[in-house]
Amino acid sequence: MNTIGIIGAGQMGSGIAQVFAAAGYPVHILDVAEEKLAAGVSMVAKNFDRQIARGKLSEADKQTALGRITTGTEFTAFGQTDLVIEAATENEALKRDIFKTLVPYLKPEAIIASNTSSISITRLAAATDRPGKFIGMHFMNPVPVMQLVELIRGIATDEETFSRVRTLAESLGKTVAVSEDFPAFIVNRILLPMINEAIYTLYEGVGSVVAIDTAMKLGANHPMGPLELADFIGLDTCLAIMQVLHEGLSDTKYRPCPLLVKYVEAGWLGRKAGRGFYDYRGEKPVPTR
Ligand code: NAD
Repeated sequence: MNTIGIIGAGQMGSGIAQVFAAAGYPVHILDVAEEKLAAGVSMVAKNFDRQIARGKLSEADKQTALGRITTGTEFTAFGQTDLVIEAATENEALKRDIFKTLVPYLKPEAIIASNTSSISITRLAAATDRPGKFIGMHFMNPVPVMQLVELIRGIATDEETFSRVRTLAESLGKTVAVSEDFPAFIVNRILLPMINEAIYTLYEGVGSVVAIDTAMKLGANHPMGPLELADFIGLDTCLAIMQVLHEGLSDTKYRPCPLLVKYVEAGWLGRKAGRGFYDYRGEKPVPTR
């Protein structure tokens, strides 16, 4: 793999760009607007600065890595790309549209990966001209810190695609876990119902935001409370994953909590929006309930 394309410059796209650029790969990021791209690159630069402050990176290495990242809003830039990783908003129709637009620009041998948290890889692959060269490559948030990459084969994913993407993930220092193509794969099949249950616990008045997060941090030894984690993931992403689980497995135990729906409708999407179960606009996060 020589050149990596990334679609979406949000929390995940920028994190994925950072790890590839730091590992020496030229990276091109596409998003819908220049300001999204600028925000994504500035997030990468800030993360590098944090590594410099901790003595883990030199200023020269930062500049070299940033120099490997190019950005733009046009798909023509993906003509020479060996692998395109889609990391746009968790919405199936939107992702399918992206793939339809993308494929005419790609080399026939290029691989497409989706960073989707929950959507069927087989169905997304079917929206492209190359289901054999399509795979789920699910990075965790924050990408530079988290060790795991889940790999998901669609029904048609060929062995060469799988082994090339596995080798690539390992070349980034990541560990791979392989999941079958079922709604939300492994991590989110287990994690999101727990987060959704924490939101029900809040909705039903069993505990406050602080009580729920403290209980799970000190009582179950979780490094972050479930509501804090939901804000970190993004409440729109959490809701989209619960909807995929609910529809895909047709089981009422996956119904999204109405309070989660309300927060998303308010635009209180968590950290990235400045407000979710906590308000992040001041010096310290303050619970919103
Ligand atoms: P985000 O909201 O931070 O970023 C999404 C980005 O996609 C935005 O910059 C948006 O402008 C861009 N986008 C929207 N429509 C687009 C289009 N048509 N073309 C190009 N770009 C477009 O979301 P995120 O947290 O980065 O999530 C992105 C993907 O990664 C989702 O599929 C999500 O499920 C998955 N994911 C998220 C997490 C997490 O913890 N947040 C973890 C693993 C995977």
